[in-house]
Amino acid sequence: MNLDRRQLIKTAGSIALITGFSRSALFAAPLGANPFTLGVAAGDPWPDGFVIWTRLAPRPLDEHGGMPAARVPVRWEVAEDEGFSRVVRKGESVALPELAHSVHVEVDGLQPHRPYWYRFAVAGSDVSPVGMARTAPARDALVQRLRIGVGGCQHYEMGYYDAWKHLAAEPDLDLIFHYGDYIYEGGTTPLGPRPDKWTAVRQHVGGEIYSIDDYRRRYAQYKSDANLQAAHAACAFAVSFDDHEIDNNWVSDFDQDGTSPEIFALRRYAALQAWYEHMPVRKAQFPTAGGLSAYRRLDYGRLMRMHVLDTRSHRADQPCGDDFRKNPCPPEAHMAPTVLGDAQENWLDQGLGSAGTTWNLLAQQIIVMPVDFREPDATEAQFATDLWDGYRPARKRLIESIQRHKLSNVVIATGDHHRHLVGSVPENDENPDGQKVAVEFQAASISSEGNGKGEAGLDHMMRNNPHFSLYTDRRGYQLFDITRERWKTDVKVMDRVETPGGQISTLASFVVTPDAPVLHRG
Ligand code: FE
Ligand code: CA
Repeated sequence: MNLDRRQLIKTAGSIALITGFSRSALFAAPLGANPFTLGVAAGDPWPDGFVIWTRLAPRPLDEHGGMPAARVPVRWEVAEDEGFSRVVRKGESVALPELAHSVHVEVDGLQPHRPYWYRFAVAGSDVSPVGMARTAPARDALVQRLRIGVGGCQHYEMGYYDAWKHLAAEPDLDLIFHYGDYIYEGGTTPLGPRPDKWTAVRQHVGGEIYSIDDYRRRYAQYKSDANLQAAHAACAFAVSFDDHEIDNNWVSDFDQDGTSPEIFALRRYAALQAWYEHMPVRKAQFPTAGGLSAYRRLDYGRLMRMHVLDTRSHRADQPCGDDFRKNPCPPEAHMAPTVLGDAQENWLDQGLGSAGTTWNLLAQQIIVMPVDFREPDATEAQFATDLWDGYRPARKRLIESIQRHKLSNVVIATGDHHRHLVGSVPENDENPDGQKVAVEFQAASISSEGNGKGEAGLDHMMRNNPHFSLYTDRRGYQLFDITRERWKTDVKVMDRVETPGGQISTLASFVVTPDAPVLHRG
C-alpha cells in the first residue's frame, strides 16, 4: 500500500487538527508482528459509504492485546476491485489506547449499491486481510433485489462457527443483520459432556467478565475465530446487541441479580464501550456513561427501510422476575409498560409512517408474537416475561402504529431464543388464529445450545401456537431474498456445531407479498 508523501502530510495535518495532538506523539516503531489478528469488518452502509473497522491486537489475549500504550497511525484504502488497482478513497486514522486500538472510519464519497474492497496497514507490519462491503442503493432507487443474512447468539463454548463460514459464502449478500449475543459474559466451563447440561466444546478464557479489560479480552477471543472473521470480511454487518453483551436478561438499569442500579451502570458502561470498540458502527453509536444510541435506520432505496431496534436499553424491568420457568407469572401480570421507551417508540412510529418503501424490516432481538411455552401435559398457558409477551401494552401500541399507517409490509427479524421460529403477529393476543399484522422470522443461534434436538418433542409448541408456521431446535441462520413482488426467507440449518466442519442445508422457505402479512410455503 502506498500513500504519496503530500497525501501523508495532508492527512497527518488533518488528524492533528481533529484530535489535537501532534504528529510526534504517534508511535513510530514497527509493531513487529501481525496486528490484524482480529480481522476487519464493515458496517451500516449508506448510499455513499459505510464504516470500516479493525483493531490492532498482535497478541489478542494478552494485556492490551499486546499493544504499546501509544497512539498508532493506521492507513486505509477502499478500492473498486479486489486487487486494489482502482483505489477510490484512502486516508490515515489513529488507533487510540483509550479505544483498545480500534479503528472506525466512516468512508464516504462512494457510488451507491456496488461492491468495494477495503484494507488497513500499519508501518512496518503486515497489511490487513481484505474485506468487501456493498454500499446501500440511492434513496430514490427502484432496487431490483436485496439479500440479507441474519445471525447471532454465538456462544463460543457451545459450538463452532461453521454457520458463519457458510453464510459468508452465500452469493450477492447486501448485508448481515446480527441481532446480538455476539459474546457471552459467563466464565469458563469444563470441557465435555455434563449430565443434563450443554456440552462445552471449547473454553472461554477467564471467569465472568465485569471490567472493560475483561470484555475486551472476551471480544478478542471470539473475534479470533476464522469463520466469524470470514463473515465480516464477506459482507457489511448491521449489528445490534442483546443481553449477553452485558449480562443475562439485563434491561435498562437492572441486571438479573438485583445489583444496585448505580453499580450495574458501571458494568454496562464498560461493556458498551467494549461493544463499540469491536463493532463496525458509526460515531452516532459512541458510548456514554448513560448508555448509547443503538437504534437507527438503514434505507435501501424504495425497496426496504430497516429499523434497527434496541429492546434492552430503554425497557421497563421484566414482570415476575426474569425467568418464567422458575417464577410462574399469571397472564394478567404481563403488563410491563414499555420495551422501546418513549423516544424510540415515537421514532419508530415516525419512521414507519414516513418510509414509503415496499417493505419495512424491524430488525430486533426478542420475540414479538405471543408464545405459549406450556409443557406438553400442562393445561394452562405459560408466557415468558423477557419477551414482548411481558409487555403487552407496548406490543399493542406497536400493532396500533402499524395499523394506523396502514402497513401490510412489516417483517420482523428476531433472535435471542436460539431456535428457528417462523410465525405471524396476531392483531389480538387472545386470538392467535385471527387477523395478522406482521410476519416474524426468528433466526436460530449460530452455536448457542449446541447441536440441538431438531423437532423432537416440540409438537406441542406448534399445537399450542396456531400462529406458528415452523419451530425447530437447530442451529443456523436465515437468508432474506427481497424483491418488489415478494419476500422470501430461507431457513438454513446446520447438521452439527459441536464438531468442526458442519454442513448447511435449507430446512424450509417462506414467501410473503407486501399486500398482506401472510406466510406461504416457498
Ligand atoms: Fe443467546
Ligand atoms: Ca439473548
